[in-house]
Parts: sequence; structure tokens; C-alpha cells
Amino acid sequence: MELNKLTAHELLDLIKNKKATPQEILGSVHEQIEKSEKDVKAYVRINENTVVATASDERSVPIPIGIKDNMCILDQETTCSSKILKGFKAPYNATVIDKLKKSGALLIGNTNMDEFAMGSSTENSCYGTTHNPWKLDCVPGGSSGGSAAAVAANEAIWAIGSDTGGSIRQPASFCGVVGMKPTYGRVSRYGLIAFASSLDQIGPITKDVADSALLLNIIAGYDERDSTSVDMPVPDYTQALENNVKGLKIGIPKEYFVEGLDPEVKDAVMTAIEVLKKQGATFEEVSLPHTDYGIATYYITATSEASSNLARYDGVQYGIRELAKKTRKSPLLDMYDETRAVGFGAEVKRRIMLGTYSLSSGYYDAYYLKGLKVRTLIKNDFDKLFADFDAIIGPTSPTTAFKIGDRVNDPLSMYLSDIYTVSANLSGIPAISLPCGFSKEKLPIGLHIMTKPFAEEMLFRIAYTYEQNTQWHKQRVEL
Ligand code: GLN
Repeated sequence: MELNKLTAHELLDLIKNKKATPQEILGSVHEQIEKSEKDVKAYVRINENTVVATASDERSVPIPIGIKDNMCILDQETTCSSKILKGFKAPYNATVIDKLKKSGALLIGNTNMDEFAMGSSTENSCYGTTHNPWKLDCVPGGSSGGSAAAVAANEAIWAIGSDTGGSIRQPASFCGVVGMKPTYGRVSRYGLIAFASSLDQIGPITKDVADSALLLNIIAGYDERDSTSVDMPVPDYTQALENNVKGLKIGIPKEYFVEGLDPEVKDAVMTAIEVLKKQGATFEEVSLPHTDYGIATYYITATSEASSNLARYDGVQYGIRELAKKTRKSPLLDMYDETRAVGFGAEVKRRIMLGTYSLSSGYYDAYYLKGLKVRTLIKNDFDKLFADFDAIIGPTSPTTAFKIGDRVNDPLSMYLSDIYTVSANLSGIPAISLPCGFSKEKLPIGLHIMTKPFAEEMLFRIAYTYEQNTQWHKQRVEL
């Protein structure tokens, strides 16, 4: 039996019945890393000495996990896959890391990502591209491409990602795994290196829906160190894993099935809807009239917040410092400029410029403020629908994974791949992507479900029912 190909809940059963030990599971993950990591390149750092606690209590979950390289781990390098943070060692643990450590999690290493989580392909990393385990010449999606690829390649049992505009769900969709973005405020962002603070949220990337619920149980909850985390009790999400959607009303937005949607993706999603129909859910065509403004609103909001959040990287406190060869302004100002010129990659610079422009006094009203207003309109669209519907369903991404290199020189086409995912972040609602088929080229397709804020249990229930009546989640890559 290849332990690394099992899910966390299957492994926990084996551990409980004394049929496997955490040490053996970790060993099988490391064996896989030995075999396939040179081709997949999911990790930027691998821990040599992952500590396996010997005495495990009932609640412990000693499962090997990959962590996206934007979460602080005490005394360990955390770089957001950016040259500017090379050598930065976190002075504290992110709350999510604390929670994982308390649960006995085995931290395998840090996974690759687009620099500062800006991207949809993991090609914007200072460490180079991660490869899609299903087809090595394709991207794994992004920005949590390393986390999704590690899970799909069985180089981790599960992983943690962050999602600002789709960065958990889109790579999950491209890699044939389950990716979930919780409600904004459900999981603490303390120690998550900020990209766009009003959109960022940490969530699980797993092989199936049951694992997604299990991992959310570990990381969710109020945290006084994150003023945007919400003080609400955390239910046991595994209780929501019910194979039953009878009587549920699900909306299919007509705006999601338009030009640009790959017919193979559309067919897979329509077939998935039929599966849920058979289980007793009813479907209705609905409208989210402001869908078309999603991408523009997202890229105004995200870049504005990013330009402000990234102002702190100036060579003084974090990461690298570069001194200018010649004095241009003053030694101090030149050091800021030089550090940022050398440390940031092209996409990050593009976004800082875009964001600074939107926030500048002459354009603030026309762009940033307008963006905020449209964001409210987008959120209102969802609120209105959720008064009548339990969930909204559609594709996660308009296409399957694209070839490495295909879109790097065309930022706009890259941005457009986020069309279905950004509105969940703009509205703060939870959403999940789960495998619902393969293209002719054997590339995975993702089904996207959204619910109202804090209705994660509904999300899990629908996703679980779909999974129980299909086999897609059982597909594993051979590498
Ligand atoms: N692909 C989107 C972007 O480039 C989303 C990124 C994310 O969710 N971190 O901004």
C-alpha cells in the first residue's frame, strides 16, 4: 500500500488501528519527493528534520502537510517566492502554523507560489516554475501552485494555501484536487504575509472533501491578533459531510456560461449538475448582473492594497539590502530604490505601479473609490441570490491548465483566468473547487460552489454529496 496516496482521514484510521505510524507515512511522502520533485518542483524548501511527536493523543492529526511560502514559521525562512525576502526568518509563527503544530501536523516544507501570491500559474516565482503533475509541460495554476501540485503529486497528504482572488481554487482545479476558500474572517490572517488584506484568506488544499473539512476544523477560529477575524463558534465541519442534497436550491449564473468558456469544461460542469439533480437538488438559471466588472474591480482593489502592503520592503527591516553604485538622490533613498529594483519581479512591479496610480490623489475617485462601489454592487448581487438559494454553482476556471510560457507575456489573458473566482473574495463568501472530470488531454476540470458567508457546512454538504456519487476524487497521478 502506498501510504502517500491515501487521504488524511484514511491515514488517521490506519494510525488509530495501529496499521501505520506517522513516521511511516512521512517516510512514504519523502520517498515520493525523492522520485518526482525534480520534475514537479512543488517545494522551495524541504525540512530535513520534521519532528514526529511520539506520544500522540486522541485529537492529534500527525499528517504530513505542505505550507505555502507566505506563512510565517518561527526562525525559518519565509520568502513569498520573492528575491526581496531572501534570508528573512520569521520572528513568530502565523496563527495557522501554531494551530497546525498543536494538532501534531508534520510540516514537510514550504511550497512554491507566484511572487507575493500575484499570479495564476506559479510562473512568477524567483525559484522558477512548478509543473503540473498531470502534464509536466503545463502550469499547476497559481498562486498556490506549489501546494496544489504537492498534493496532486502525492508529495504531501494535504497542504495550506492562500486565496486572494482564486489562488487556492484555481490551482486545485488545474491539479485535480479540492481547494477551499473560507469566509473572510473565518481563519486568522495573523502571520500570513499580506498581498491584499481585505481579500486574503487561508484555506485547505486536499485530496477530497472530507479532508477539507478536517483541515478547516484545525485552522479555523477567532484570533485576537487579527482584527478582521470573526468571533463566532467554529462548528465541527466533518459533521456536515452528509450525502444528501434533497430539497436544496442551487443557482446557475447565466453570466458564467458565455464566450471564453472551454466547451469541455462546460460539459463537465453540466454533467456534475445532473449528478446533483439526481440526488434531489433543484437548479435554476440565475443572474449575477455585475459579473463582467469582477476582474476590473478585483485588479483595482488588489493592486491598490498591494502597493500599500509592499511599501514596507525597503531594505531596512526585511530580507535583502542593495546599495546603489552611484548616488542619485541620497544614499538612503537610493538604497530603497535599488533594493526594490533588484528584489521585486516584473509582475509585482507592474502591480505596485497600477495600485499606486489608482490610489494617487488625481485618480483615487475615478479608480479606487469607484472600485469599492462596484465591489458593493457585486456583493449585493450575491446577497440577493442567497435569500432564495442555498448555493451557486459553475466552473472554477474557464479552461484547463495551460502550457508553461503561454500566458506569461500577456498579463491580461492571465488575469482573465480568474473570472469565476474573484467575486467570492470581493464578497467575502466561502467557495470550494472540486474535481469533476478530465479533458481529452487528461487535464483535470474543477467544479466551483459558493455559499453565503459562514455557510461552509452547506458547501461541504453539497461537495461531499457530489463526491459520494462520482469517482473523480479517487484519481491519482503516477509519477
Ligand atoms: N490570480 C489572482 C492574482 O493574480 C489571484 C491571486 C491570489 O488569489 N493570491 O491576483
